[in-house]
Amino acid sequence: MQVDWNRWMVLSLAAALSSCSGGAGSPKVRRASSQSILIHSRINLADYHVSGRHDRATALHNVEQATDGGPSRRSKYQKAPGGKVLIDTRVLRALEKLADSGYSMRISELAGGSHSSRSRHYAGIAFDVDQINGVKVNYSNPYYKAFMKKCRRMGATEVLGPGDSGHSGHVHAAWPRRRGQ
Ligand SMILES: [Zn+2]
Repeated sequence: MQVDWNRWMVLSLAAALSSCSGGAGSPKVRRASSQSILIHSRINLADYHVSGRHDRATALHNVEQATDGGPSRRSKYQKAPGGKVLIDTRVLRALEKLADSGYSMRISELAGGSHSSRSRHYAGIAFDVDQINGVKVNYSNPYYKAFMKKCRRMGATEVLGPGDSGHSGHVHAAWPRRRGQ
């Protein structure tokens, strides 16, 4: 009985925490993590879309928008739905960890840009990286395979890159949807 009670307490606490912070993680972590990404010497944030479109939903805008803990903009062209979304702290923490572990990278998209319909980018749970350790992502980039493996180890369940359709020039990593995403 005691064990059940403890278990009930833990589950209730977890439910309460997740309902106040939402599926995307806590605002406090979002704020701290995006601030550190913004000034990280090994992270470069694209200030334009590869599509050539200009809006306020580039990777740089998205991280700047997340530094107050709140939502970031999505693009509104082609398949991109517009509006805003919270960038999930799993995504931000993974980028931080990748950089802290020695990878330098250019983040080409977070919530912005136009992707396939229902793309996890629109839910704030995906990133695209198009340069790793100063080298463009393509078949001859010597780093992308280990980089993708590390993304999977950090919980990404949709990791695509050279060899996958539509991903010859970037690595895409996305995390599983949580409630509300
Ligand atoms: Zn992507």
